Amino acid sequence: MLWVPSKARCPRQGPCRRLPVPPALPPGDPVLRVAAVASGWARPPHRLLLRLLEPTAGRIVFDGEVLTDLSRAELQKRRARTQIVFQDPFASLNSRRSVGAILGEPLLIHRQAPLQSRQQRVADHFALVGLPAEAATRYPHEFSGGQRQPIAIARALALSPDFIVCDEAVSSLDVSVQAQIIALLKDLQRDLGLTYLFISHNLAVVRHISNRLAVMDAGRIVEIGETDAVFARPRHPYTRLLIASLPVEHPSLRRPRGVQADEATEDAVGARGCAFAARCPHADRICRAKRPPLRHVAEGWSVACHHAETTG
Ligand code: SF4
Repeated sequence: MLWVPSKARCPRQGPCRRLPVPPALPPGDPVLRVAAVASGWARPPHRLLLRLLEPTAGRIVFDGEVLTDLSRAELQKRRARTQIVFQDPFASLNSRRSVGAILGEPLLIHRQAPLQSRQQRVADHFALVGLPAEAATRYPHEFSGGQRQPIAIARALALSPDFIVCDEAVSSLDVSVQAQIIALLKDLQRDLGLTYLFISHNLAVVRHISNRLAVMDAGRIVEIGETDAVFARPRHPYTRLLIASLPVEHPSLRRPRGVQADEATEDAVGARGCAFAARCPHADRICRAKRPPLRHVAEGWSVACHHAETTG
C-alpha cells in the first residue's frame, strides 16, 4: 500500500500545491491520474513518490514503510520495488549503450544477478515485452518509437518491482502503438500482479487501462472512484468537462460541456475557495469562500465539490 499525506509538499512547486496522490493504492490496482492539460502539476508528485525530489514536509508511506525516513542505502534497496516508465522513450534510453547493457544496468547496480545469469535475465525481460533476445546487441536508435517504449518497460521490470509509475507512457506514441503498449501493460499487470500509477492527460487511454480513476485540477484530486462509475456519472464539473471533451463518432453525439476548458489560474490555485469556481456554472458564495474537501459520496468514490450531490 502506498500512502501520501496531503501535507507533503514539493520543494520546487512551492507550498500551495499539495501532493495529490490517492490515499491508498492496493496491489494490482492500476490507479490513474488525469491532470489539466499542460498544467505540469501532475509531474512532481510522482517524483516525490520515488524520492527523485525530496519533499519538504509530510511523509510518504509504502507498504507500511516510511520512505521519507529511509537512509540513502535503504532507499536504494527500496527503489528496486518502485520503478518508472518515462514519457519519451527517445530521451529516456541512453543512446550510447546497447539495450542489453541498459537492461542489465539495474541488475548490476542492485547486485541482483552475476554476469552469467544477467544475460539470461535480460533475455527473459525482452521476451516479456515481446522483443527477441538478439535485440540486446542493438542500440536505441535502431528501434522505432513503438519498440523503444517496450524496452523502457522491460528496464522498469528488470528488478521485479511491484509498483510502477507510468508517466505519460504512451502520449508520445502513434495511436496504433499506444494500443499495443496499453495491451502490453495490462498483460504484464495481470501476469506479474503489478500496480500502476498511470499518469495521463488522455481520458480515452485512461479508460482502457485503469480500474480506478483520480481526476486532478489545479494540483489536487477533485474526483476519485471506479473508472466505469466515474465515466457513467461524473460528479465533479471538471470531470464532466474532460469526458465531454472526448472525441465522439458523430457531432450529434457530442455532450454539452457546460464549463470552460481553461486551466486554473495562479490566483484560483491560491484562492481560499474552490479553484474551479471561476470556470464552474454552479459556483456560488460557498464555493468562493471555502475550499471543498475531498469527501466520500459513495462506496469507493470521493469528490471535492460542495454540490456533488445536486449537480452530478
Ligand atoms: S465546489 Fe462549487 S465551484 Fe467548485 S466544482 Fe463544485 S460547484 Fe463548482
